[in-house]
Amino acid sequence: MRAVVTGGAGFLGSHLCDYLIDRRWDILAIDNLVTGNATNVRHLADNPRFRLVQHDVTKFIDVPGPVDYVLHFASPASPVDYLKLPIQTLKVGSLGTHNSLGLALAKNAKYFLASTSECYGDPLISPQPESYWGNVNAVGPRGVYDEAKRFAEAMTMAYHRAKGLDTHIIRIFNTYGPRMRLNDGRALPNFVHQALTGQPITVYGTGKQTRSFCYVSDLIDGIYRLMMSDEHEPTNIGNPQEITILEFAERVRALMGVSAPIVFEPLPQDDPKQRCPDISKARRLLGWEPKVNLEEGLKQTLESFKKQFAENKTR
Ligand code: UDP
Repeated sequence: MRAVVTGGAGFLGSHLCDYLIDRRWDILAIDNLVTGNATNVRHLADNPRFRLVQHDVTKFIDVPGPVDYVLHFASPASPVDYLKLPIQTLKVGSLGTHNSLGLALAKNAKYFLASTSECYGDPLISPQPESYWGNVNAVGPRGVYDEAKRFAEAMTMAYHRAKGLDTHIIRIFNTYGPRMRLNDGRALPNFVHQALTGQPITVYGTGKQTRSFCYVSDLIDGIYRLMMSDEHEPTNIGNPQEITILEFAERVRALMGVSAPIVFEPLPQDDPKQRCPDISKARRLLGWEPKVNLEEGLKQTLESFKKQFAENKTR
């Protein structure tokens, strides 16, 4: 099997490449390295079944030879990143999705879209089932990501219905693990970086907003099961263990063994008040559910963040 993974040098894309390489797939990773980093796949550099090409998938994607699967994971995904890169985010979700679908069609390949819980916006029901249409502010700051992904889902379903393409759509909820960028602005990397540098831990708003954090190995397992399934409609994959951000900050601080104070800063506009996946569909159709609890996942992640921090410091 040969797959093209867009965003293959990113946090999730690189873990997906590892997983497929372990299963003896050939991988062509494509990344423009705007938020991805070649060091995420440097351990694969000498593997003859792996190749990384630096390319912006909003431009035509030219891949010689046969392709069995196109997996579209390219996009800034942290709120701080997509607020800095609003037009690139809209383009990779729209033009990048169109180009990668066109590649799959030309190669008679299967297609997999990395979508997001942001499709539900600031949800009015919780937990969120796939049947919920969401509560998104299209013209707010997060609209660049949310609407790009909603368009990407619509485009993917159109290729499925109009062209008969074999497509799959995952809605990914908050995921964490090694290879997140320590400066990507998300809650966990921020808290860890602050703890490592002796700064106060910044909690936005009251900290009563909730999230549900899925460890990366669980997510990749869910991706693979969905890839191999017959399901074409969007499917939630995430950990339904919900926690307030304040509690999450306290957990990270305790695990890091620091006593830094928690300071409260303004809540970013349209920050969802609660987010928790309804995973009954994934359980039923894929026999999937997360296995790594927060304690265990955080321990593994913190160890890798400490190493990453030490490496960056000595560079
Ligand atoms: N957050 C926070 N402090 C930070 C970074 C984020 O309190 O330093 C909050 C943020 O406002 C949100 C939650 O943590 O309510 C998760 O934010 P993140 O950026 O990780 O991802 P999101 O789930 O919003 O896409």
